[in-house]
This record gives sequence, structure tokens and C-alpha cells, in this order.
Amino acid sequence: MYKSEYLNRVYAEVERRDAHEKEFLQAVREVFDSLDLVVDKHPEWESHGLIERFVEPERVVQFRVPWVDDAGVTHVNRGFRVQYNSAIGPYKGGCRFHPSVNLSIMKFLGFEQTLKNSLTTLPMGGGKGGSDFDPKGKSDNEVMRFCQSFMTELYRHIGQFTDVPAGDIGVGAREVAYMYGQYKRIVNRFEGGVITGKGLTFGGSLARTQATGYGLCYFAQEALKNLKNDSFEGKKVIVSGSGNVAQYAAEKCQQLGGTVVAMSDSQGYVYDENGIDLPKLFDIKQKRRARISVYADEVPTAKYVEGCKNIWKVKCDIAMPCASQNEMDEKGALCLIKNGAIAVFEGANMPLTPEAIELVEHSGLIYSPGKASNAGGVATSGLEMTQNSMRLSWTFEEVDEKLQGIMKSIYKACYDASVECGHPGDLMLGANVAGFLKVAEAMLAQGIV
Ligand code: NDP
Repeated sequence: MYKSEYLNRVYAEVERRDAHEKEFLQAVREVFDSLDLVVDKHPEWESHGLIERFVEPERVVQFRVPWVDDAGVTHVNRGFRVQYNSAIGPYKGGCRFHPSVNLSIMKFLGFEQTLKNSLTTLPMGGGKGGSDFDPKGKSDNEVMRFCQSFMTELYRHIGQFTDVPAGDIGVGAREVAYMYGQYKRIVNRFEGGVITGKGLTFGGSLARTQATGYGLCYFAQEALKNLKNDSFEGKKVIVSGSGNVAQYAAEKCQQLGGTVVAMSDSQGYVYDENGIDLPKLFDIKQKRRARISVYADEVPTAKYVEGCKNIWKVKCDIAMPCASQNEMDEKGALCLIKNGAIAVFEGANMPLTPEAIELVEHSGLIYSPGKASNAGGVATSGLEMTQNSMRLSWTFEEVDEKLQGIMKSIYKACYDASVECGHPGDLMLGANVAGFLKVAEAMLAQGIV
């Protein structure tokens, strides 16, 4: 499969051990495809068992999360924390609450997070956590009891110098606040740097809520300018999803002159050729926590279509998948190509299947992997930790300016690595190689640990 015998051997072993972990194997294959171009230049990687160590998480914690619903019925969910790699800093990565959560998804996210965090220029290792709990349809009190129970086990594995969780799918400001409250109560310390995405009244950072979506657009802006001498101005854009990442990607895109014509949730999508009315969408999603179909009920120019995967049939210039893994397959990619799209910028983690990536890259569209283009969220979490340590708060503009600088340097690191590998503009290759080289150097320096 790979030119490198070493990578073939390591991959065969990962596949033997984790045969049933399909998302994890997919993520490893994607990274190995890139490392295959550079591994021969680094014989020390094999002699130090570097890649064997890199693919194996340093620690995986799995635990029971019992909680009682409003009717007095006991439920038991499964909690996870994957502490993937601490070579360049404390483990850092969000928690996901979604019924689909399992060990494979946690490991794929932790593995990707390690490379993403390396690209941010900040000292953060990689981790990820979560539970198969579904916050949808639960009361605030039920969500609070669940978060408290989750943290009652998690607290012993985290800390500002050990492992710093944050939000992800199903974990927003409400859930982070409940988890932080329980942590503080157990350890009896106001240790703000233990979790990020906190509320502004207790150590959160301005612009963290917007950071992943805004950062995605800053990265896209850089790529459009550098690779096509172009911009968002006048472009039709699809932003899939309608959660945290999608909402702020859509907002920044419109500020930069693009028109967001379609957005979705897991049930279907809305199309509005005038451009999605974002104050309306924010009201439906943030205040009412309602389905996206409500948007079409209330906005006369909009149309609702069942089935979220059909969103890629809408004609657009730029696609920004911001919902979940494998949400765009080859059918979706073919629609984009047929409709003349020029770029796909990933806001979610691994939203394109390998077949979709191949089609998009071979058709000459700009393609950026989530580990590079969605890294603005974790980068701003890093800035939240810095502010917590310094015991001060920066203004929105200060954080936003730092975020823009970080996204520019991530783009440059990816582009430069793609040039060094002889494939200028292959941002997936560039992200994997640039992200890995820093972690590899730190791991080699620290000995066999
Ligand atoms: P949210 O929970 O806020 O929103 C998720 C959105 O995606 C919702 O619209 C949801 O629809 C939809 N969705 C979830 N699962 C699926 C699915 N299986 N198929 C189709 N749609 C789905 O999550 P975020 O916006 O925080 O995260 C979105 C993506 O971005 C994830 O991949 C996450 O890992 C990644 N990410 C998030 C960061 C952050 O800072 N929040 C940072 C970096 C990456 P519904 O409401 O119907 O479930």
C-alpha cells in the first residue's frame, strides 16, 4: 500500500489490533499517505519506533456515567478521555456528547487533534473525550446532572498542566460551565486553565465562541488569495451544519462578502438564495434550540429539503462542511465539481470521505483539511489558557487579531511543507507533514517514552 515498508508494517499492526475502529483507521491512513513522501528521509524514526508510538494513544480512560432523569429513572452512559500525545504540551481537545460516540471516534479525533495542535504554533498536546449521551431533548437539570457525573470521574485525569478539555459537538457553553462548576467543587481550587470555552464571567475568552468559524474563513481567505488570487467577494457558499462552527463560519463569510445560500442540521437543509438571515438562524438555534426546518417556516424566500447529504446539490462556488465526520461522500463531491465549485474548506473534523477528497483534489479544487482550517478554535482555547495564567483578559479585537495571525501562519506552514514535498498547494499533505514533524522532533528529543 505504501512505498515505505516501515509504514506498511506499522499500519498492518494498527489494523490487526484495531480492526473494528473504522474512523480511527481512516484517519491513520490519511496521515500515512502523506508521511510516505517523507519517511525515507528520516531513518531515525524507525530506529526509535517513532511512528508505532505516535499511533498509539499514551492513555485511554473509559468510565461509567450514571445519572438520574427528571422522572427519577437512572441511566448509564459511557464516558471517554483519550490522552493521545503530550510531546509538545498538556493534552488538549474537546469533549463530544453524541449518541454515535465510541472509542474509534474518540481515537480518530485525538489523533487528528495532535497534528492540529502542533500546527497552531502553541504548546498543546492532543486529546479528546466525550460520551454517548445525547443532550437533545433533555432538560437543563438533566444536562447538569449528567455533566456533574461525567466530571466526577474525569476530574482525576485532567488539570491545567495535564489535560485541558473543551467543547465539541453537543458540548457548548452550558455544558462546559456545568463541568467546570463540578470540577471546582471537587478540587476546591479556581483553576480556570483546566477547561476552555468557559463563560466570560468566569475566565472565558472573548472571541472563543466565534473562533473556529472565523478562523476557518481567515484560513480560506489566505488560501483563495495565495492559490487563486481570489476572495470571498461575490461567492455563493454552502455551510453545512448549523452548530457553533457553522454559525460563525457563516457570519464571517458574509462579512467578507460571500453569500451563504444553504445550511443544514442532521435532518435536512435550508436553501435561501438571498443569503441565510443569520440573526434569524441564531435565534432558532441558540435561543430556541429548534430544528433548521423552522427557518423555512418563518422565512418566505427559504426552502427546506429533507436529508442533510443533499445539501451538496446546491450550486455554489465554495463549500464549507461544518457538521460531522464523513458528511460528504463521492456523490456530494461530484455535485460540487459538476456545479463549478472552486474550493472546499473543512470546518468539521474529517467531513469528507477519502473518495470525496480524492475527487476534489484531482479536479483541481482548493482543499483544506479540518486539522488546518478548523484549528482556530483550539488555538483560541490556547489563548484562553494564556489569559487565565496571566490573570487578565484581552479585548475581542486583541484575540481576533492573534487568531488571524495564527491562521495565516498555519496556512503558510501547510503551503511551505507542500512545496518542500514537491506538491505545491496540496494542503492536506502540507498539514500532515508540518504537524507531524514538530511532534516527531519533540518525541525524539524526549527519548523512548
Ligand atoms: P455543534 O454540536 O454545535 O453542531 C453540530 C452540527 O452538525 C449541528 O447542526 C448538527 O445537527 C450537525 N450534525 C451533527 N452530527 C451530524 C451527522 N452525523 N450528520 C449530519 N449533521 C450532523 O458542534 P460544533 O459546531 O462544535 O462541531 C461541528 C464540527 O466541527 C465537528 O466535527 C467538531 O469536531 C468540529 N470542530 C469543532 C470545534 C469547536 O470549537 N466547536 C473546533 C474544531 C472542530 P443536529 O443539531 O441535527 O444534530
